[in-house]
Amino acid sequence: MSYKHVFFDLDRTLYDFDKSTRITFQELYKKFRLKENGVDSFEDFLELYKKNNVAMWERYRNGEITKKFLNVERFFVTLLQYRINDRAFAGRFAADYIRLSPQNEALYPNVHEVLSYLRGKYTLHIITNGFEEVQGVKMKSNNLDDYFKTVTTSEEAGAKKPNPKIFNYALKKAGATAAESIMIGDDYEVDILGAKEVGLDQILFAPNGSVENPDCTHRIKDLLEIKSIL
Ligand SMILES: [Mg+2]
Repeated sequence: MSYKHVFFDLDRTLYDFDKSTRITFQELYKKFRLKENGVDSFEDFLELYKKNNVAMWERYRNGEITKKFLNVERFFVTLLQYRINDRAFAGRFAADYIRLSPQNEALYPNVHEVLSYLRGKYTLHIITNGFEEVQGVKMKSNNLDDYFKTVTTSEEAGAKKPNPKIFNYALKKAGATAAESIMIGDDYEVDILGAKEVGLDQILFAPNGSVENPDCTHRIKDLLEIKSIL
């Protein structure tokens, strides 16, 4: 297959979302004096938030809740589990998180090496379900802007991965066909099955090997492996 276009997911594919979240939570844990407010263990607090965040994102993807609700509620319910029943407090925490976390430098190893290599051979693009204003800052803070010809966010496309609509929107924006394109992402349901549905080949980035027997074109553990595929 001779590809012309390579589409990347951003969070947890190029950008180490968990590392970034941890950095910002450490800052905010201090700033909001959470220890003094009854949140004894930073690690437990972070784990609890992550669980709540995943559940909220699922509801957001399914169209059950709005972005605005998700943004504050994930912090509110987490703080509530420590008996901090204060929506305004959760709102301030949320606002700081949204402002600070995309400013973190948190790329996976070898991202610049792989993108520099690919840029010489293909046209590169991003398809992300993340918030538009956040993803832009994230890409700038991590010097990713120059590599990509187009960035498609779910907000702009009016649909979230794995909905075929966002993939078709991104293809059109890129001036690409499915047959000459390949999608690289970490989420089997969202990135891989979504891309497959519209006829793109796929590379699953599974650094922890968490997906058992995934049905995909290629599967990698390290982004450097892309250089031997493409
Ligand atoms: Mg991802």
